[in-house]
Amino acid sequence: MSHSREFFDLQRASLAVDIFSSEPDLRDVAIEAISTAAIPWNCSNALIEAARAQAIRCVLSGSSPSNEIIDQLRLHVFDRKRDALHAMAKVCTFGTSAIDRARWRKLDISEFTWMSIGKPLCDFDHDALDGLVFSLGDGFSGNFPGRQYGCRCWGAPVIVF
Ligand SMILES: [Zn+2]
Repeated sequence: MSHSREFFDLQRASLAVDIFSSEPDLRDVAIEAISTAAIPWNCSNALIEAARAQAIRCVLSGSSPSNEIIDQLRLHVFDRKRDALHAMAKVCTFGTSAIDRARWRKLDISEFTWMSIGKPLCDFDHDALDGLVFSLGDGFSGNFPGRQYGCRCWGAPVIVF
C-alpha cells in the first residue's frame, strides 16, 4: 500500500476536497481548529508546529503528509511509520471535524448524534456516547466527536423534516 493510499484510508471519508472552492470560509475553520488543538506529543514545539502546518496543507489540498514530517515524527516521537501516519491523521481530524460542525451550523442544524467508532480508532471510552443526541452548542460537556486528540468518532447531524 502506498504512503498516500494508506493515509487516505486513515482520513475521514466525509470531506470532499473541493468544498473549499464553494465554501472558502471553511479554510479558516480548518486552520483555526488545527492550529489551536492540544497535541500531546513528547517533542519540541517546533515539531508540533511543523506537524500542524502539514495537517493544514493535507486537509486544504487533499494531499498526504510529506516524507519529511513522517521521518521527523518517527525520529522523535513514534517508532513506526504507521504510528506516525496515524498521528498525522488524528491532527487532520481536528480540521475535518470542525468543518463538519461549521457546515451543520450553516444548515441550521442544532443537534447531532454521536457515532462512536470504537477502539483502536478512538482512544477514548466513547462507546457510552454512541447513539446519544447532543446540541451543537454544548456537545457532550463541551466536547465533540473528533475534537480531542485520538478521537476519530464522528457526528451525524439530526435533520428535522
Ligand atoms: Zn471518540
